[in-house]
Parts: sequence; structure tokens; C-alpha cells
Amino acid sequence: MSLDTTSHKVPVARNTADLRAAVAAWRAEGSTVALVPTMGALHEGHLSLVDLVRTKADRVVVSIFVNPTQFAPHEDFSAYPRTEAADAAKLEGKADLIFAPDAADMYPEGFSTTISLTGVTEPLEGQFRPTHFAGVATVVAKLILRAMPDIAIFGEKDWQQLMVIRRMVADLDIPVEILGGPIMREADGLAMSSRNVYLTPAERKAAGKLNVILKETAASVSSGRIISDATRDGAEKILALGFDKLDYLEIRDAASLAAFPDDRPTSPARILVAAKIGRTRLIDNMPV
Ligand code: AMP
Repeated sequence: MSLDTTSHKVPVARNTADLRAAVAAWRAEGSTVALVPTMGALHEGHLSLVDLVRTKADRVVVSIFVNPTQFAPHEDFSAYPRTEAADAAKLEGKADLIFAPDAADMYPEGFSTTISLTGVTEPLEGQFRPTHFAGVATVVAKLILRAMPDIAIFGEKDWQQLMVIRRMVADLDIPVEILGGPIMREADGLAMSSRNVYLTPAERKAAGKLNVILKETAASVSSGRIISDATRDGAEKILALGFDKLDYLEIRDAASLAAFPDDRPTSPARILVAAKIGRTRLIDNMPV
């Protein structure tokens, strides 16, 4: 056991044995355990998940792992911000343990298993990042099986990811409760993201309007406009802001992410967007 417990700092486990030893000790004292999976570069969005899940479980593990398998070769894996010391400081007094394995520990020589889902993984992000959700599902399954928490929490910021994980946990009978946490936003409504640090000041200004267009588009559909007209207008407005490419702006069934065949919502709906500005790809969503 090599946990750093010498100060008030949050101890860090680097491998499964140390993680499981800590969790076993908590289990022995009758505590419940929550897991907050992250890729680090922590911001208020991540910390809100820690705070929320702390109200539901006695002990909180935050994992920090920039998972290579959910990035495509052309994506920002090597540029992704890595700020472990600052992350650990932000978690002081909030988390009981940081689980920060390295890639060789997660994917040792000979690793051969991938969890891939059909259906909910296919539209939206699945169209633009075809290997992404297999990477996410596999790493989340591994993190859950390593920590064996009672609860794992994910942000609604990555709405499709939350639906994918709920599906996987149900399909594979993984005994964990999946909780969703609300999207934390900056003062102008921009959804907080570790990738926002890539934005130039001009891009940051435009990015802050994305949520406004989402809200307007959702409101126009709620007041009776057909989805295709509303999203076509919304797409034009997003490009007019200076976004370089709109991957999608869609209104879908909130759980299955299926399209509405008669161009109007007939069940609880969600508006979802992905758009690129400069080198940054932003995603956001909200209820309709
Ligand atoms: P990431 O580090 O980007 O993989 O995110 C880790 C977790 O934090 C995921 O469950 C995200 O959905 C969640 N998250 C990221 N940004 C936000 C936000 N602005 N509000 C709430 N949760 C978030």
C-alpha cells in the first residue's frame, strides 16, 4: 500500500491494488462509496459532481485518467491539459481518494477487450467520433469494476455519454447506481469544459453565445415551430457567430437520442450541439 496519507492532501492511488485496499477499508467501517470519473483539468463542473455525490455517499473517489482510447488519432490527446497537482489541491476537503493510474496500468501489454454499444452510440457524437464511445464505455466499465462503488456520477454536459453509460450498466448488469449532475456554466452561459482553455479571447466571446442559440431554438420548438425549421435557423446563427464548422444541432428523444419522425417532439426531448471554433470543439445540450 503506497498511499500518500502524510498530510491533509488527498491520497493518490496509482493502481488497482491500492484503490481496492482503500475501498475495502471503507467498506469494513460500513461506508458507502461513490466514484467520479474525470480526465482531470478540473473545473467547477467536475467539483459540482463531487459535491453532489458527497451528499449520497460517505466516501468519494475521483479518478483522473486521460483515456487514450476515446481520442481519435487526429484529436487532442497529447494537447489535452494535464494539471494533476492543481487538481489535487482543488479536491482537498472534497474527495477521499484520487485514483490516477497510468496508461500502462489501465491497458497493459496484450489488452484486447472493447465494450461497444449499438443504438444510443450511433447518432450525434457517434457520427463524428465513431470510435469515441467504445473508448468511453470500456474505460468507464474498467473504472467501475476497479472501484466497485455504490454510485458513479457523470455530468449532463456529456448528455449522450450519460445515456451510453446508463445503457451499458443496465445491459451488463453492473451493480452500480448511475447519477447525472447538472451542467455548470460560466457567467455568460458557456458550459464549463477543460477544453475552454484552448479558446482565444475572440473565440471565447463567440462561444458564450452558443448556449443562447440553443435556448432560443429549444424555445421556438416548444412554442410550436417544427424541428427542422428551428434547427436550420439555429445552425445559421451559430455559423454567423464565427464558428468554423457545425457538426450537428439536433433535437432528439432525451433518452434514446432517436430523431422525431414527424418533426415535432412527442416525448421528453433534448437539444444537442457540437461545433468547432478555431482548434476547439465545443458541445452543449439542454432540455426542450
Ligand atoms: P471530463 O473530465 O471532461 O471527462 O469530464 C468528467 C465528468 O465531468 C464527466 O461526467 C463530464 O460530463 C462532467 N463535466 C464536464 N464538464 C461539466 C460541466 N460543465 N458541468 C457538469 N459536469 C461536467
